[in-house]
Formats: sequence, C-alpha cells, structure tokens
Amino acid sequence: MSARILDGNKIKEQIFDELSRDIRTLAEQGVQPGLAAILVGEDPASQIYVKSKIAACVHLGMASWMHTPSASVTTEELLRLVQQLNEDDSVDGILVQLPLPPQVDSKRILEAVDPAKDVDGFHPANLGRLVSGRAGLVACTPAGCMEILRRNEIKIEGANAVVVGRSDIVGKPMALLLMHANATVTICHSKTRDLPDAVRRADIVVAAMGRAGYVQADWLRPGAAVIDVGTNRITSLAEAERLFRNLPERLEKFRAKGQALVGDVHPDAINVAGALTPVPGGVGPMTITMLMSNTVQAARIRRGAGIYGNPRNTGAAQPAGGR
Ligand code: NDP
Repeated sequence: MSARILDGNKIKEQIFDELSRDIRTLAEQGVQPGLAAILVGEDPASQIYVKSKIAACVHLGMASWMHTPSASVTTEELLRLVQQLNEDDSVDGILVQLPLPPQVDSKRILEAVDPAKDVDGFHPANLGRLVSGRAGLVACTPAGCMEILRRNEIKIEGANAVVVGRSDIVGKPMALLLMHANATVTICHSKTRDLPDAVRRADIVVAAMGRAGYVQADWLRPGAAVIDVGTNRITSLAEAERLFRNLPERLEKFRAKGQALVGDVHPDAINVAGALTPVPGGVGPMTITMLMSNTVQAARIRRGAGIYGNPRNTGAAQPAGGR
C-alpha cells in the first residue's frame, strides 16, 4: 500500500488564507506587519530565497524591505544596520539571510537582532524560550514540520519520534517541539551507532541530515509517519538510478534535466510508510509559510497582543486533547 502524501503546498495555502484574515484584522487597527531582509553579497541561491520571501510578503499585503550590503561588509557595519532595523517601529521581523561572508561574525549579528523581531527564531532568547516550553518565535522549518503533523492529525502524544540530525536550525528545535507535544524523542546524528535500529522503533521519523536518500525504506516501521526535511540536489546518473529505480517517470525527468531535488529518505519509503512528505512539495513550502506566520505573530507581540495570541508556533506543551 502506498503512503498518504503530506502535501506542504496545501497546508501553505491554508495558512496563507488564515494569515490574510489576520493581516486584514490588523489593518483595521492601523497595523501593517513588515519584514526587513538583509541579503549580503550576490550569492544566486540566497538571492532566490530572499526574493521569494519578499514576494510572499507582497502577496499577503505585508510591508517588506530588502537591504543589500556588499560582500565586503564588516561586522560593525552590519551591526549598525541591524540596530537601525531594531529601532525602526515599522519593522516587525528581521531576517538575516545565511550564510554571511567569512569576515562577518555571524553569531554576533544574529544575537544583535531584537528577540521580538527574530522571525527566524535563531536568537538565544528564543531558543531558551523553546527549551523551557514557553511560547515564542520558533525556527521556521521545524515549526512547519509540526504544522504538517498536526494538520494531518498525526498523533504525536505518546509516539516514539526519531529526529535524524541535530543542527541548531532544524534537528534540535524539532526534537524540542516534539518533546513538548509529548512524544518520546530520540535524536540521532553522525555518531549514532545503529541508525537503522533507532529508525525502526519510530512512529514518527524526521530526517534532517542532508544526505540524499540515506534513510532506507526497510529501516522504517510499516505505517510510520515520515517527515523528510532533506533538500539535496543530485546530478549523478548513478545516484538517480539508485533513488528512482522504481520511479521510471522521475528517472526520465532526471535524464532530461540532468538534475533532481531529493530528500534524505529513499523514495521507496512510499511503499512502507503510512504517511510521507514528498520532496519537493513537502517541508520546503512550509519554511517560508512559517516565516510569514512569525512576522504576523511578531507584529502582534510588539503591539502587546501577548505571545499567546497565535495558536501557531508555540513551543509550549499542548493541553491534553489540544491540537
Ligand atoms: P546540517 O548539515 O547543519 O546538519 C546535518 C545533521 O545531520 C548533523 O547533525 C549531522 O550529524 C547529521 N548527519 C549527517 N550525516 C549523518 C549520518 N550519516 N547519520 C546520521 N546523522 C547524520 O544540516 P541542516 O540541519 O541545516 O539541514 C539538514 C537538511 O535539511 C539539508 O538537506 C538541508 O538542505 C535541509 N533543509 C531544508 C529546509 C527546507 O526548507 N526544506 C530548511 C533547512 C534545511 P553531526 O551533528 O554528528 O555532524
């Protein structure tokens, strides 16, 4: 039997509809949420990411600004820009597109962002809130994975969840969110002794390792819910043949384009898992969605609506019987 496909684009549409309503309500109060993006240098991938974030703001009727310092910018110059945005009352969210050039002290820049405007959820104050289970601005990709699970009514409470990957931006916050939602969580990484054995025990698997098709279908417990965060571009035919051995259409597409986007989970998982996020079209669209949601939430927090005003993105444990 084939797994249920957990469609990220569908959830993005749902959340965009909800956000549009929230933004209209804020407009009636004279408030327009605004996102300021800082894009340093001319890295083509970063330019595409930032442009799509700005386009999402425009689509939703939010204000947006793009600051584009040159690749030779210093830490001090960037700190001044961040400070200026911290003090600008029309800016609700500040996004610093990573990676920053090597001469810039990235940690200092991220820590300079006002935690109330930290819509990426990377500031230590927001990470601390997440650890202690208090609502706050949560990193977008893991928050998006939680939306996928909840909106598809996948039972988290009491489930065995395995998170493969322990990065600060995906694996660690993901594990904390699952734990606060009352899953029993195992975090795996490159030094984990027997990864297949850990994955086999999971009702929910979150793969965030950056290794194309690494998690094999026969590692999965039949019926498991699989959230594939991995976004890997492959260009080798041998790799494509390994991954698309049972997907002749995708192999054909690969031959035509010479590349494909694949997750960390082998596509054959569709025959074993109970539910699965596709790559592309699963977790990917959720990251930008949650950035928009965080910006609206930040606009509310800064105007005293309280950080419990938005049901999305809370690191807090859900009450029994809650979402
Ligand atoms: P990092 O490289 O920062 O972290 C990768 C993690 O995977 C590390 O903790 C590493 O372990 C672990 N890992 C690597 N190899 C193995 C292995 N063989 N066995 C077990 N664990 C392993 O990556 P990110 O967290 O930033 O991203 C992970 C993936 O998610 C990437 O493919 C990235 O492109 C994708 N991503 C997608 C997003 C989206 O919007 N869809 C957003 C963000 C990321 P260790 O700590 O021991 O080195």
